[in-house]
Amino acid sequence: MKPLTDEEKYENLSPNSQEFNGVFFTAVKSTGIYCLPSCTARRPKRENVEFYDCALEAEKNGYRACKRCLPNLCGVPWVDHKESIELVVPKSFRFKECLVYLDRSTNECLHRVKGDAFLKLLKFEDVLVLIKIESAGQKLHVTFLNEVPTKWVRAQVAKYVWDLFDLGTNLSKFYEVAKRDPILHGLVERYKGLRIVKIMDVFEGFCWAILGQQINLPFAYTLKRRFVEAYGEKMVYEDERYYLFPSPEIISTIEVEDLKKLQISTRKAEYIIGVAKAFQEGTLKKTDITFEKDYEALKSQFVALRGIGNWTADYVIMKCSSINQAFPIADVGIHNALKGILSLEKKPTVTEIEKLAENWRGWEAYVTFYLWRWLYD
Ligand SMILES: [Zn+2]
Repeated sequence: MKPLTDEEKYENLSPNSQEFNGVFFTAVKSTGIYCLPSCTARRPKRENVEFYDCALEAEKNGYRACKRCLPNLCGVPWVDHKESIELVVPKSFRFKECLVYLDRSTNECLHRVKGDAFLKLLKFEDVLVLIKIESAGQKLHVTFLNEVPTKWVRAQVAKYVWDLFDLGTNLSKFYEVAKRDPILHGLVERYKGLRIVKIMDVFEGFCWAILGQQINLPFAYTLKRRFVEAYGEKMVYEDERYYLFPSPEIISTIEVEDLKKLQISTRKAEYIIGVAKAFQEGTLKKTDITFEKDYEALKSQFVALRGIGNWTADYVIMKCSSINQAFPIADVGIHNALKGILSLEKKPTVTEIEKLAENWRGWEAYVTFYLWRWLYD
């Protein structure tokens, strides 16, 4: 199909037609809001309208999603039941496989896994929402535990859950790659439907990676818990505490000494506060990071930050962006998994892994996640 000109796009703004929803988005300069072509709000003047190909691009340019037509939910199959919401998930998704990963530490402080349910505290525009996610057939059922939020917030929760489990990624190419690969073949058979569980807060992604540098996982969880309990917002529900990750706004104002009291090393404290300042000053922006499709560009931006080496940069890209090329090749977990799967006497070298990874181009992040999953069996 020939791409539409801006004039044709403007002509096709109509509440009576869904045809162009998802094809383009309209952003209105005078209001700072972007919409679907089918929005029922008053038709904007031609000179005030800009057009974008995707919702994230409009957001990157400073526009907010319209609360009437919910353009950022375009392509997310969700059903609003008010008391709860439902998401229709792709066939290649198994919630249970993701839960195994999420339940890997009893010291996790940012969510709880209870039986087959996942509980997490979220915040949208100053509203705290405690959600419970359960799986039922081809659907994810999300219940609001503390109170039922507005329709706008319910929609944002739907979008959050969709992105958290990376449900928008088409895995068929990855599975094709896996079919021809001796290592992936078995992993994919075993964990089919596993998707990368994202860290939706990019600042959290950086902090978690920094905290985890050169220490074992249990100690990293302890440090995260102390940090979150000291600076994160919380809600008590049925005598249990649920936390939000601390914001860059707060962390950019604290001192290295404050974090050293939590047994976080001087270096790590400096890195974390440095990243918080980068977010506060706007050097790092969540919308830019999630919108970026160029792996090399994002990685060079990250490694320019103090304390962010290759492993940390790749970890953050893998967990916080939609780029599946990220490969934290120096990761001990990857090495241990490969040693086990290939029954090697010792861990493979980076050169050996690079050789294996030639088959995995474009899907390295997924390979990493599947290798990590193998460690939890
Ligand atoms: Zn609208």
